[in-house]
Amino acid sequence: MFYNMPEIEIEPTFIGKNESLKFIVPKELFSMSTGPAETIDPESAKKFSNYIRGTFKGFQAARKTKYGNESNTKTKTTPEFWEIFEENAKDLDVDFIGYTAVDERFIFHNLKVYGKNAILLGMEMKWDKIKTAPSAICEIEVFRVYKVLGDVTLELTEYLKNEGYKSEAHHPFGGKLLYGPHAVAAGLGIKGQNGLIITPEFGPRQRWSIITTDAEIPASTPKDLVKLREFCEGCGACIRECKGQATYENPIEHENSPHTTHIDRSKCIQSILDNTYCSYCLKICPQGKRT
Ligand code: SF4
Ligand code: SF4
Repeated sequence: MFYNMPEIEIEPTFIGKNESLKFIVPKELFSMSTGPAETIDPESAKKFSNYIRGTFKGFQAARKTKYGNESNTKTKTTPEFWEIFEENAKDLDVDFIGYTAVDERFIFHNLKVYGKNAILLGMEMKWDKIKTAPSAICEIEVFRVYKVLGDVTLELTEYLKNEGYKSEAHHPFGGKLLYGPHAVAAGLGIKGQNGLIITPEFGPRQRWSIITTDAEIPASTPKDLVKLREFCEGCGACIRECKGQATYENPIEHENSPHTTHIDRSKCIQSILDNTYCSYCLKICPQGKRT
């Protein structure tokens, strides 16, 4: 006989206290499912539709990963455990893995987070597609990575849960905490002038996700980011060339919060809707360009 077992919610590790950080689902973007289908071949249109559907499905599935942690009380790990974890992640096309403690100042207000540590995952958006921005080809690549990295994040979260560690997935399309400050804390990149995380490997051309977990994390090996920081400080291309004129030259600071706002959200969304998902900022950053 089968019963509909109620989903038991466990105690969260954090509840976001930062009143300046509100999580807003970009509803306008949910209407993008048919845009480029008119201008691309049927095969690409089908792929695009699968990536969009997969992204939204994964985004919703991530919010449910807090369930199933009821008996997960393990915290101890070994170097071998992380070796295997990282091998699995690389086999699933993850380009970056980093570790840091969850910084509760960057959790969205009133959202509950499960797990005290953050595992950062990053995946490249390929230059041969991004260089065509703004275009349907670029848009498809953006959603490909949202979908693929989202699925990988869910898979690795379930792996940690099955190993006995309380863990929760935060999808690349939107999580319960800001990814940028955690990626910087993990030593993976710098915050660029447009607020995006810039890496020596791909500039701004990667998406991020996080797994929060009670598993003890290894120390991150920080990269040498001095040259990258100096270059970025003297560049400013993303402010000058932002297609929607949405990037602030002087980012807005917030009282009682360490985060800064670099983009006028409504102008950026308008440009995304008017210019086939825009994404011009992923293309113009010299750090991400390839010949
Ligand atoms: S997506 Fe377009 S409008 Fe938005 S920040 Fe990037 S270049 Fe500017
Ligand atoms: S375009 Fe220039 S200023 Fe903007 S993030 Fe890239 S390197 Fe930094």
